[in-house]
Amino acid sequence: MASQPQKVTPDQANTLKSPEAPGDSSPAHAPDAVRSRKARTALVVGGGVSGLLAARELADRGLRVVLTESRDHFGGAVGAHQVGGMVLDSGAESYATRNASVAELIDDLGLGEARTTPSRVGSWLYLPSGPIPMPSSGILGIPANPGDSELRPALTAAGQRRAAMDRYLPSSVGAHQKTLGGLVKARMGQHVVDGLVAPVTMGIHSTHPNELDVDAVAPGLREGIRTYGSLGASAAVLRANSPAGSQVAGLVGGMNQLSEALVNDLTRRGVRLLAGCDVIAVDRDEVTQNWIAIRRQEGSAGKRAALTADVLVLATDGPTTVRLLGPHLDSDLLPEVRRGPEIALVTLVVDAPALDSAPRGTGVLVSDRVRTVRAKALTHMTAKWQWIADRVGEHRHILRLSYGRGPTSEGQSITELTLSDEQLMSLALHDASRIMGTSLSRKYLQGADVVRWKTAMPQVSIGHAQKVKAFRQNLTKLSRVASVGAWLSGTGLASLVPDTRTTIADLDLG
Ligand SMILES: Cc1cc2nc3c(=O)[nH]c(=O)nc-3n(C[C@H](O)[C@H](O)[C@H](O)COP(=O)(O)OP(=O)(O)OC[C@H]3O[C@@H](n4cnc5c(N)ncnc54)[C@H](O)[C@@H]3O)c2cc1C
Repeated sequence: MASQPQKVTPDQANTLKSPEAPGDSSPAHAPDAVRSRKARTALVVGGGVSGLLAARELADRGLRVVLTESRDHFGGAVGAHQVGGMVLDSGAESYATRNASVAELIDDLGLGEARTTPSRVGSWLYLPSGPIPMPSSGILGIPANPGDSELRPALTAAGQRRAAMDRYLPSSVGAHQKTLGGLVKARMGQHVVDGLVAPVTMGIHSTHPNELDVDAVAPGLREGIRTYGSLGASAAVLRANSPAGSQVAGLVGGMNQLSEALVNDLTRRGVRLLAGCDVIAVDRDEVTQNWIAIRRQEGSAGKRAALTADVLVLATDGPTTVRLLGPHLDSDLLPEVRRGPEIALVTLVVDAPALDSAPRGTGVLVSDRVRTVRAKALTHMTAKWQWIADRVGEHRHILRLSYGRGPTSEGQSITELTLSDEQLMSLALHDASRIMGTSLSRKYLQGADVVRWKTAMPQVSIGHAQKVKAFRQNLTKLSRVASVGAWLSGTGLASLVPDTRTTIADLDLG
């Protein structure tokens, strides 16, 4: 299984000291000498893909690297779980192909032959009026051509007429809107927000478009309106910039292999990987300028242990990074970064011949205005990925339902996440029956699992892009420190991988 527990006890977790680290009698302790010597050691906090990749890039640059991860396994949101006798992805199960960064990393790690694309049966939207095939043009539910007849069920005729006005409005309309919902409403009307965009963003970002920072989730979209004359045209260009064919790809065997391959690669490079190692504070030696990470010492109450290095890279979630680095940064410029929405993924393994025809294609995004279904999305894993279908028996299907929306358009906070695993599984069976249009009771169930993600989704609410800019600016005032992760790069591997690589390449080790 990918990113298997590799627990290192605190005793094994050596302090990483460069020869000139505090306590050493080397004459290089003089501040000037220390500052002028090249960095030799690095500490990466956080063992998700951003941390693992940062460690790899630092090792490539010749540093001795230690990586700490608070959980007992590596990979963060790109991990594995066992359900119904199969190893499946517990979080990310694909990557966007809008750039080549993830494919290149996969190839580089020797996994190239496992690259695969999902089936092309299309996906669906579940609206209050019922399920409809997902419109095939545009991005984030924004239609490239609002007049398309396929959009009629989602928009109504009046909604479609309003949406079509986008083409004739001056490009200044909506220019001052900062949220995705505000922009789409100004250009195409409320029907498009409710019927098309909200189900997509609630599924991807667990956040209503009225709360989403448009520049954070769709960079270039606003600019494109000025350049191409309408929101639809801008959405079409962003879509067209993705390579032809499928917009996502995956790995036969699951994306969790990416984390496993990174861990193996780091081990080969001599990087020390410390699991179960929770960093609770970060300090800096005034004389040597070494970074000191204080970690929780398991099993010895009140005892602290420290890791020391020339270079520090924080690859943790936004709130943790700001908390750890806050004391070293200009407090006036420190952004308030809140945790993103929690998610629970319920995987059901069912024997149900009625699903053989993939009645909802690869899966369904559910509008938050639907009252009879509480899941925000359902992925029909065996219809989406041939390799999974090949590994399960005939008529066996794997459905993955996702729970945990942020506040809805009506400001309701949703409470499914307070349910026990057992209750969530029952709810998932009920929701899956509704969505797939066939009765799925417990007698069909061959296996089930619930995975809860508490800190893995960054918040991308209004002002987020500005906060990221301010934080990165603030960080440049400190030497030999960098921060990576989805809260800075944007959610998803296609944003995370190039951003992590650039950030580490730009890090001054002098
Ligand atoms: C359910 C789910 C499904 C997704 N699906 C997709 C998908 O299909 N395609 C896609 O491209 N992206 C997907 N994503 C997004 C993608 O997985 C993430 O953007 C990416 O993996 C984030 O990586 P990261 O390293 O920034 O953060 P994380 O993976 O969250 O890693 C951060 C790590 O830091 C550790 N940590 C935190 N605090 C400390 C501390 N104090 N000390 C030590 N360690 C600490 C955490 O335990 C964690 O392991 C999905 C995300 C989720 C949650």
